[in-house]
This record gives sequence, C-alpha cells and structure tokens, in this order.
Amino acid sequence: MPHVRTYCKAYGLVEKDQQTINKLQSKQSPNCNEPNKPESKFCAKCHMVLTYDAYSETIEEKQQKESEVKELKDKYEQDMKSMKDEMNQQFKHIMAMIQQNSQLAYIKPEALTTKKLNLANDL
Ligand SMILES: [Zn+2]
Repeated sequence: MPHVRTYCKAYGLVEKDQQTINKLQSKQSPNCNEPNKPESKFCAKCHMVLTYDAYSETIEEKQQKESEVKELKDKYEQDMKSMKDEMNQQFKHIMAMIQQNSQLAYIKPEALTTKKLNLANDL
C-alpha cells in the first residue's frame, strides 16, 4: 500500500502543509504583523518583543535600570541629607559662637567656616 504522503505530495498537499507549518512557526509581530523568523526575539520591523524570554530579559533590564536609578536617587538623598546635617551643624556652631561673642553677628557667616574658626575665636 502506497504511503499517504505520496498521495499528498502528488496533490501538492505536502508543500501546502509545509507552508502552513512555516507560517505557524514564524513569529508574527503582534504590533505590525511582520512575519519574523521563529528564533527571533524581537520584531525586525518594529522591535516589538516576540518571545517570553526576550520579554523577561527586557523586564529584567528595566528592573535593573530602575534599581540603578533608585540607588542613585537614594545616594543623592543621602548626600543631600548629610549636607543638610553638616550645614545645620555648622549653623548651630556659628550660632553658639555668636552667643559667646555678639560681635561675630556682624561678620558674614561665610567668614565663620571651620577653617577660620581659630581666627574668629581670637576676636
Ligand atoms: Zn513588528
């Protein structure tokens, strides 16, 4: 008994079937309907993510970037906080010096930095 495939081939059904398989295997872009190669991770036309792997990779990259941004933001906030603390401390220090010597109130606060502390004490 001849194989079924032989009949199919004779009627051009195998070729047609192969085309259907190719079509099924190709990854059609959900965004622009571009048929992409089955192994494609991204659409060649619009760069839309086509596989779950690429999708999760993109998400991970995004999360990575977000955590980097958060890190920078946290660092910035920490820097700002310590700068503010430092300024507060310097201000308190200046205020304490003014309380001890009222003449210092007539000096520009910039002149009362830690470096000129000795000079200010001599007044
Ligand atoms: Zn596309």
